[in-house]
Amino acid sequence: MLLLGPTGGGSLALALAFAQMLQCERQGGDVDALFAQEPLDDACGICNACHKAAHFAHPDIHYSFPTVGTNAVSTDFSKAWRTALTENPYMDVNTWLQKLGADNKQGNINTAECNAILKKLSLKAFEGRYKILLMWLPEYLGKEGNRLLKLIEEPPEQTIFLLVAENPDLILNTILSRCQLVKIDSLSDEEIAQNLQTLKGVEGARAKQIAFLAGGDFNLAVNLAETPDNDDAKMLLDWLRKCWRGNGVELVQWTDQFAQLGRENQKQFLQYGLHFFRELLSLVVTGNQTLRLRQDEMTTALNMSKVLNFEKISQLTAMLNDNIYYVERNANPKILFLDTSIEMHKILKRS
Ligand SMILES: [Zn+2]
Repeated sequence: MLLLGPTGGGSLALALAFAQMLQCERQGGDVDALFAQEPLDDACGICNACHKAAHFAHPDIHYSFPTVGTNAVSTDFSKAWRTALTENPYMDVNTWLQKLGADNKQGNINTAECNAILKKLSLKAFEGRYKILLMWLPEYLGKEGNRLLKLIEEPPEQTIFLLVAENPDLILNTILSRCQLVKIDSLSDEEIAQNLQTLKGVEGARAKQIAFLAGGDFNLAVNLAETPDNDDAKMLLDWLRKCWRGNGVELVQWTDQFAQLGRENQKQFLQYGLHFFRELLSLVVTGNQTLRLRQDEMTTALNMSKVLNFEKISQLTAMLNDNIYYVERNANPKILFLDTSIEMHKILKRS
């Protein structure tokens, strides 16, 4: 079975819960009977199997995921994997690879890992009803993934493959065609806002605003919530005003201050800018005023919609997008943002 859903959505968390449910001792253990239940009964959460599964330590639930290093296999990273899942099962692949100290190295599910999977699944189940292989991001399987085809097509008895993917275009066709595809919807803004409040103690209005920015990505939402709060809306408006006026001294002062904020805040600000311009674009193009903006932001957007057209907003958006890339790669913020401010001025004033 292949669970397909967006980055930062619930697919991995769902797959983990599903694996636990399949092993739960209180369940009958028959997949068909399990799904015939109305409503679907969850794992009990208290039996021995549930306990182990919840701590990612069930001997019959195997995990496979991208790693770095030529002959590295997933079990080399079991401890990091358990910690990462405990902290945040909504994580994205970059967060994970950074935890492995990947720096700029590409993640990979390599030949050694495929051989390890074949070996694990050739053994009898230790104590569970099923042998489960949960593979996170089969996108990272190269051609060596073809070693698994026979196993996926005709799995041994009581063996279940659960693949969790984000982008079907990057999965080997030979694998994709052998899976049952289950599409997982994005998390809604309400779900994200509510969980930010209950899990992370974020205050209501801010949780709502972060949810708007995160666009269904709970991992991003948590990152945003953990970055100290700057009023990005106010700062964006201030910046746009200064860019509009194009006074050199003012822009240099603004850039110097902005450079002090640090990379994470700068990135968050740029992400906010992208969100704002996306909403503004929708206002300009459709005239639709039910936007994902607060009241004060809406006033700014209405004013700006009078002076900015589709083309200008697209150019501004592209520029902010590029800047996120540059900030991530440690560009000098004073030079980068002064240059951006001057370009902004040109775009805003162009007739
Ligand atoms: Zn149980």
